Amino acid sequence: MSDRTPIIAGNWKMHRDHLEAIQLVQKLAYHLQADDYEGQEVVVCPPFVSLRSVQTLLQSDKLPIALGAQTCHAEDEGAFTGETSAPMLARLDVKYVIAGHSERRALFGETDDVVNAKLKAIQRHGMRPILCVGETLEEREAGRAVEVVVEQLRGSLAGVTLKDAADLVVAYEPVWAIGTGRTATSDDAQELCSAVRGELGELFGQAIAAGTRIQYGGSVKPGNIRELMGQPDVDGALVGGASLSSEDFALIVAHRR
Ligand code: PEP
Repeated sequence: MSDRTPIIAGNWKMHRDHLEAIQLVQKLAYHLQADDYEGQEVVVCPPFVSLRSVQTLLQSDKLPIALGAQTCHAEDEGAFTGETSAPMLARLDVKYVIAGHSERRALFGETDDVVNAKLKAIQRHGMRPILCVGETLEEREAGRAVEVVVEQLRGSLAGVTLKDAADLVVAYEPVWAIGTGRTATSDDAQELCSAVRGELGELFGQAIAAGTRIQYGGSVKPGNIRELMGQPDVDGALVGGASLSSEDFALIVAHRR
């Protein structure tokens, strides 16, 4: 099995202005010990307007936290009012960009084709996508969870080269568990993360599949992170609500203590 350094990422969504963002990262760093960063990656994904402030803080305080963004446009530049491009993010030392979050898919009409184009833009500019996939409650109850996730993977990853596939992070995020307080059981999370790995094997071969980091996301909290991380195919977490509390996010990052 290849090395899969665990990755814990906080998706702040549309929360916190840039001053609050600085405070949140400072408090997070205060709660964490040097050991907590060892052997795993910690990522924060603030709103666009806070990226520059957080980047400056991370650099000046030499904090081992990577900067992430929540989305980007597929084109490098152009007449796309209100949008932000991948090269702009890369210039801010953004390392990870979330692609295809279920809120983007549901509220902003992002199809697998759109997600695919964004994912390629992210990779073209040397950043790593965190590709989100996940089924709705209806789809799960109809027994279609695996089918839906496989379809999203195939569509979102169409035409991605083997070289680029090696840099991918996938987040399995059942839509019914996002922001609802309802977490998938660790068995459900394992089953679907294993299905994701199986499909990556079909698409890119076993070596890539075995080395790809797969996160679980959906109401991850300090109380459930340890069990989720104990699953063989869960290599990290994408955390929404709980990442807005420095104490809770620190407890999640420090789950091995
Ligand atoms: C998310 O936004 O990706 C997420 C998983 O949110 P929450 O942790 O609040 O369910």
